Amino acid sequence: MGKLAGKTALVTGSSRGIGRATAQRLAREGAVVAVHYTADERAAAQTVADIEADGGRAFAVRAELGVPGDVETLFEALEAGLKDRTGTTTLDVLVNNAAIMGGVAPEEVTPELFDRLVAVNAKAPFFIVQRALTLIPDGGRIVNISSGLTRSANPQEVAYSMTKGAIEQLALHFAKHLGPRGITVNSVAPGITNNGSPVFDIPEVVAQMAQLSAFGRVGDPSDVADVVAFLASDDARWITGAFLDATGGTLLG
Ligand code: NDP
Repeated sequence: MGKLAGKTALVTGSSRGIGRATAQRLAREGAVVAVHYTADERAAAQTVADIEADGGRAFAVRAELGVPGDVETLFEALEAGLKDRTGTTTLDVLVNNAAIMGGVAPEEVTPELFDRLVAVNAKAPFFIVQRALTLIPDGGRIVNISSGLTRSANPQEVAYSMTKGAIEQLALHFAKHLGPRGITVNSVAPGITNNGSPVFDIPEVVAQMAQLSAFGRVGDPSDVADVVAFLASDDARWITGAFLDATGGTLLG
């Protein structure tokens, strides 16, 4: 029996990339997984289909994050989906994974881009946690996906990295707040991870990126998903408020 048998999970941004691998991994451990997305309905449906083909249970929920009403839209769909499949709205595992990047020089960051990064990457996860706490039972799990860029400089991503610094604060303070209920809250920081975007089809670029890791390769989404699955399991019950370096040794310098 899987380590998450009888549990439920929400993984934001799980139509693609690390979120998708995480949804698949949690489902393989037995959780009923809500696969959240905003634009790519086909990719979300494919993730659900792949989980089901693997013997797991999942459903898609659509909600654009970073816009007014986002959290309510998300939880309406989530609660309906959970109720349908489990008879309750209990949510055991929340993974805040959805995020957008900046990718522009510091001089080119506009107030609009900055606000958008904050809204999707920091504000939405805060209010998702706040709302999810009405559904998460004692012993639940919250995992927030940060980035190695909170510890390693990349000027093109200064605003994005500021939002990731903010999400790490979520773990620190909520961990203390929720400890008495046995709910753990942790941050996982990936390094460069092949999320299927076109840049990973260019061998010379991949070779360069691979040099950043101590292991000489770029990360696979499953490298991060496995860490999240560990934190979601009972095995990680004594870890809370932690920053887990899942950069493949990139931060070793
Ligand atoms: P992808 O860009 O591959 O996927 C992003 C996911 O988030 C998609 O499912 C997308 O939905 C969803 N999403 C994006 N914006 C919104 C929004 N406004 N509202 C709702 N959903 C949204 O992500 P990655 O796998 O690359 O990254 C996953 C996490 O890991 C992120 O937090 C990222 O910052 C972090 N990370 C990634 C690294 C990497 O190298 N890949 C390195 C370090 C950290 P849809 O498909 O519908 O567009």
